[in-house]
Amino acid sequence: MSFDITSAMLIASLLTLCVGASLSFAASRYPAHLRAAMRIWIGGLLIETLALLSAALRSPSWDDALPIVLTNTMYALSYAEMGRAMSHFAQRPRSLVPLLLVALTFAILCVFTLAWPSPRWRITFDTLPIVALQLGVARAVLLGRGRLRPADILTGSLFVACAVLAFARGLTEFLAPVLGLESFRPFMLNVVLIFSSILPMLGTIGFMLMCGDRMNEDLGRLAMTDPLTGVHNRRTLARVAANAIDAAMRDGRPLSLLAIDVDHFKRINDAFGHDAGDEALLGLVRLMRESLAVDAPLSRIGGEEFAVLLPDIGELEACVLAEYLRQHVASALLPIGGHPQRLTVSVGVASLDAGTRDLRALLRNADRALYAAKHNGRNRCAAYSTLAPAPVASQVSRGRA
Ligand code: GH3
Ligand code: MG
Ligand code: MG
Repeated sequence: MSFDITSAMLIASLLTLCVGASLSFAASRYPAHLRAAMRIWIGGLLIETLALLSAALRSPSWDDALPIVLTNTMYALSYAEMGRAMSHFAQRPRSLVPLLLVALTFAILCVFTLAWPSPRWRITFDTLPIVALQLGVARAVLLGRGRLRPADILTGSLFVACAVLAFARGLTEFLAPVLGLESFRPFMLNVVLIFSSILPMLGTIGFMLMCGDRMNEDLGRLAMTDPLTGVHNRRTLARVAANAIDAAMRDGRPLSLLAIDVDHFKRINDAFGHDAGDEALLGLVRLMRESLAVDAPLSRIGGEEFAVLLPDIGELEACVLAEYLRQHVASALLPIGGHPQRLTVSVGVASLDAGTRDLRALLRNADRALYAAKHNGRNRCAAYSTLAPAPVASQVSRGRA
């Protein structure tokens, strides 16, 4: 059986075109920011298709200057576009370096095909910017978003492998006359042509998997967070609390919960409008986050009601934290509807004990303490364990009402 590289490349260009068309159909189902990255990638695929076609039609001779310049410049441009798509995907700023590398490729090709024709020096030197562009795509994939997923590793490795092969080919061209590797040159050429023919298809599959991962992560994050404030929602609190309560009860460790309610919040809406009320909630969330440790996430459990789960923290320490939070909020001026306003919160504190063994019971007890804090004048904290059997508050602290 004989292997015809020209036919293989023609088929590869057709398949690349098909993959690009599939991606453009799939793109309409993705959110706008991913769609934009996909469009750039599709542009790169179209350029790659033209480069493959042009390489396939010229491959046996490789003599004519213009097709060589155009084909290799298109390869460089397609990698620059794929790198741009990946940077867009990773939400990193656009860099001019890839375009400069394309210009460098073009200049090297012109010099060694038109001004000073030399296939050896042309291949040796034009390989370098192309390798840099391929590594640029790999870098954007592998270093773009922190934690690596399997699709990132697959896609990044493909571009690294292609860069290594291209570099090996450049090195072969450079060393061939010195080390007598002439017979090795066609082999390296075919290896690079075959690999760069399948790279767009495999790379696109990897990129589509990355887009799928990203969309799932975004949806997961949306389902976990409150859309206005970005803090955890009630569902996430329930999930986190279930694990934390199980662990605390298993290991006999303490766990507390703060229930926080903004005082007289309705007045803010009434005085300044609903948008200003939203602005106030964002400001309050910022203040509360400032006063909490990073591993004590805030959850929004109602309109202007929040909760904080405090694993490993007993009631007394939780009351100290609650008091610190209350004072931090009360001491700040928030610009609401253009007017600096002072808002206050009331906080109820409850902890795990023999009769309180799940989130529902914790929330109920913290709510009772919160009600007591409100009842006693607001802008204060109250602990559930200090409440009299009737819901009368025994405050841990007393601020301004
Ligand atoms: P209290 O001190 O007793 O808690 O008084 P309050 O006014 O804060 O309590 P109330 O429950 O009477 O009112 C809560 C208000 O919070 C009513 C509602 O319009 C407002 N609110 C709830 N969610 C949002 C929101 O997402 N945005 C805005 N702007 N207002 C909200
Ligand atoms: Mg309120
Ligand atoms: Mg309320």
